[in-house]
This record gives sequence, structure tokens and C-alpha cells, in this order.
Amino acid sequence: MPSYDYDMITIGAGSGGVRASRLAGGYGARSAVIEEERVGGTCVLRGCIPKKLLIYGAHYADHLEDAVNYGWNIEGASHDWRTLIDAKNTELDRLNGIYLRILRDNHVDLHEGRGVLVDEHSVEVNGKTLTSENILIAVGGWPTTPDIPGIEHVISSNEALDLPERPKRMVIVGGGYIAVEFAGIFAALGTEVTEIVRADTVLRGFDEDIRVALDDELRNHGINLLSETKVNSIEKTDTGYSIRLGGVETIETDCIMYATGRAANTANLGLAAAGVKVKDNGAIIVDEWNRTNVPNIYAVGDVTDRVQLTPVAIQEGRAVSETLFNNNPMTLDYTNIATAVFSAPPIGTVGLTEAEAIEGGHKVDIYDSRFKPLVHTLSGRNERTYMKLVVDADTDRVLGAHMMGMDAPEIIQGLAIALKCGATKAQFDATVGIHPSAAEEFVTMSTKRKED
Ligand code: NDP
Repeated sequence: MPSYDYDMITIGAGSGGVRASRLAGGYGARSAVIEEERVGGTCVLRGCIPKKLLIYGAHYADHLEDAVNYGWNIEGASHDWRTLIDAKNTELDRLNGIYLRILRDNHVDLHEGRGVLVDEHSVEVNGKTLTSENILIAVGGWPTTPDIPGIEHVISSNEALDLPERPKRMVIVGGGYIAVEFAGIFAALGTEVTEIVRADTVLRGFDEDIRVALDDELRNHGINLLSETKVNSIEKTDTGYSIRLGGVETIETDCIMYATGRAANTANLGLAAAGVKVKDNGAIIVDEWNRTNVPNIYAVGDVTDRVQLTPVAIQEGRAVSETLFNNNPMTLDYTNIATAVFSAPPIGTVGLTEAEAIEGGHKVDIYDSRFKPLVHTLSGRNERTYMKLVVDADTDRVLGAHMMGMDAPEIIQGLAIALKCGATKAQFDATVGIHPSAAEEFVTMSTKRKED
């Protein structure tokens, strides 16, 4: 049997790669991880964590405004962008330190540099070739932009998280998670935000009622939402940028951010040399065991373009190490994965949308509720919460739970457990609510929505 330097080399120290390599090391395998930037990956350094910190920071603006009718005097309150960015960066340094310590404590060798596959058992890093029985690719994804004139002037969410100054005017192109979350951050802090989406509204693929509810609230929060709109070209001007839209119309702005999706980081990774197959969009093809077509090479996380969410990458990374090094064969169940969009207000969702349920052959009953949350009866803010249950009319099983409103992600996480357990509407109804809360509405919605 050939002897290798390692039992598993992981390329990419993001959420999936760190979980896999540290579990492998913890189980006694000779484990190494290769990373060309700082350890932490998209979630910790350029995604979920810094974004959520900016969201917390930005939404104090709303809280302050709301506080006035509760008797607070907020005169003189102002925001300093630099303080927020510096505080966020200090926290990222702390998290990076924790990740480094976790790797050290689990005896994982960290090789800092770009890892490139040489063959199915070898990876080159910093001019040195390392060999391994197994290789795990966890290199994640990167923002993609369409090829239009002037695209070199735009930034992505990577740069938006570290702008030296907050722009006065900003155009955000895209209607997905990232676009609506960043629109909310900058608008709350006082930037004049225009969001351009090519579809009829934001968040294609989410439940239609949630999409409509968020469309209303984005406008309510002062975001200039342009739907069914195409950007033709971008030009630099003396004062900023000029965006030419589909027709003759132009928009002048100080900053343009594109959030038009992300693609797998598989270019120049040596995949062809190792014989690893990819899809047309560059994502690595894997089976349910996260195994590529090369039996000793695995891939997890965004680079496989299955479900681009951190907790999914973490579970996939875990599954690889459990299977290989802990005699615990593990795959992931991709049904009923809850997800949240930290828009203003946020969205939480789990299970099937109404459209998906109908497409899947279910006869559905819909229960929904739209209301002004208690907090805003006094604050005066004109913001509504929307909740919806999609129920199988034959089995009474709850197929989907969707919410837009304050604390939606926190509420839906709990409901995800109920859906995972196969809860029925009758069991929701038999649950006593917590009063006064918004969440109680999920166990008190008793009237079926009438069919149109
Ligand atoms: P998404 O895939 O969610 O959205 C991409 C958006 O860009 C869509 O609105 C799409 O429009 C639009 N788009 C695509 N191509 C073009 C184009 N050529 N011109 C104009 N618009 C275009 O991507 P994101 O970048 O927002 O996020 C990437 C992934 O990261 C998400 O899918 C999600 O899995 C993950 N993520 C999760 C978060 C969370 O859990 N809270 C937060 C941030 C990201 P259309 O609808 O018409 O296709």
C-alpha cells in the first residue's frame, strides 16, 4: 500500500473544510488543510457573520426611531460607519483566531497558500507536493457578474462590507438573498438605495405571498425597487457612475453593487489533472456521500452548488469525516432545511412553498395571517408581519411554514423541528401559544384561506 503524507488533505478552510479537517484530526487521522487567504471562509470573513453584524448595527436606526413613541428622546443620535466597520473587523479577527486554535487543538496541519491538485493523491502548495489518501475540496464560491460594458466599476458584497465610507446613493443589482440584505443595511443607515431586479420582484423561488409581502416592505423602508428592469451599461462620470437601463433611462449613483449569484471556485484548481468532473457552471459533481467521480476525492459546500448555506456545508463536511474516520457512515437529508433572509423585515422559511406543494401533487390548504406586530402599535411604524402555513389537505401534514416579520428566523428555526418530525396542522392547533408573541399566531391560525 502506498504511504501518503496525510489521511486527508482538505483544500479550503471555510465552514465545511474546517469542520471536516478538525473532526478528522480529532478522530486520529493525519489531517491537513490548505488555505490561500485567512482561515474562516465566506461565512466568517465575507458573508453571514460580518453581514449580520452590519444588520444589527444598521437596524438600531429603526429601533431609535421606534423608541420615540415609547418616550425616548433620541435627539443628537448619529451613526459613524467607520466605528461599525472597525468593530466588525475586530470581531472577525477574534473568530479567525478561534478557527486557528480549533485546527491546532485537533492536530490539523495548516498550509497557507494556494492548493492545486496534481493528480488524485497529490496537491501542490507553495511549490511543495503533499500526498494524501483522501482529498476534500471545500473551496467555496465567489460572486459572479454579467458581462456588460462598465462592469469593472461595480463592487460585490465582499467590498460592500469594507467600504471606507458609506455612500450617499447606491444601486444594488439582483433580487436574491444578498441583494435584499444589503439594500436593507444601507437604506437603514441613510443611503438612498435603488434595487434593480430583472424579475417581477425579489426572491424568486420563495413563496409568492412572502415575495409580495417583502416587496411592500422594501418600498416601505424607502428602497426604490425597480422590477423587470435590465442594466445595459455602466459609465464612470465626474461625480460617480451613470447606469443605462433597458430603455433610454439612466440612473446616477455613487456606488454600484452586484449580487447576481455566486459560482464555484473551481478555475485553476487542477481538477482536470485529477480527473474530477464538474457541471457546466463549474460546480463539482458529487454523490450523496459527497464523493466525486474519483473515488478518493470528496467535495462539500458551495463548490458543489447544492444548497449554498453554511450549516449545510458544515454538515456535509462532518458527514465526510464521520464516514471516513469514525466508522459512522453519514449522509445528509436535504428536505426541510430552514433558511432565513435577513432583510428588513427578515424572512424565515422551511419546507415547501404553496407552488412547490401544488406542483408536487399535493392538494393544499393555506392558513395565513397578516398583522401589525404589537411593538408597532405604539412605535407607529407602518410594518406588517406575514405568516403562512401550507398544509396537505389529505394528510393534514404541515408541508411549509413561511414568515416575514420581526424575529422570523428565530421562530422558523423552532418550526423546522416540527416539520422535520412530520407535524400535522392538528398538532400545531393543539399547541398552546406564548402570549403575547407573534409566534403564537402559528398555533392559532384556524381559518383556511378561501380559494379565489
Ligand atoms: P441568488 O442566487 O440568491 O440571487 C441572484 C439574484 O441575481 C437573483 O435575483 C437573480 O435574478 C439575479 N441575477 C442573476 N443573474 C443576473 C443578471 N445577469 N442580471 C440581473 N440579475 C441577475 O444569489 P446571491 O448572490 O444573492 O446569493 C448567493 C447564495 O448565497 C444564495 O443563493 C444563498 O444560498 C446564499 N446566501 C445565503 C444567505 C442567508 O442564508 N441568509 C445570505 C446570503 C447568501 P432571477 O431571480 O431573475 O434569477
